Amino acid sequence: MDFSTLNKKASDSFAKQRNLLKKLAKGRTLYCETCKGVLTLDLQTDQPGKGVVRCKNGCTDIILELGS
Ligand SMILES: [Zn+2]
Repeated sequence: MDFSTLNKKASDSFAKQRNLLKKLAKGRTLYCETCKGVLTLDLQTDQPGKGVVRCKNGCTDIILELGS
């Protein structure tokens, strides 16, 4: 097991999420890296403080922490 690689991946994806969230907060339209479809933010009422960014094809499905 190479934990340094795992940690790097996790922090990359965290940075990516923060970046996505920043852009969404500014009202930017974002596109899926895979299908180039428009990404939408769904607020999950059953999980307070969380939202899901997804495209209509489902290749992007990212849970964002919205709190704080
Ligand atoms: Zn997609």
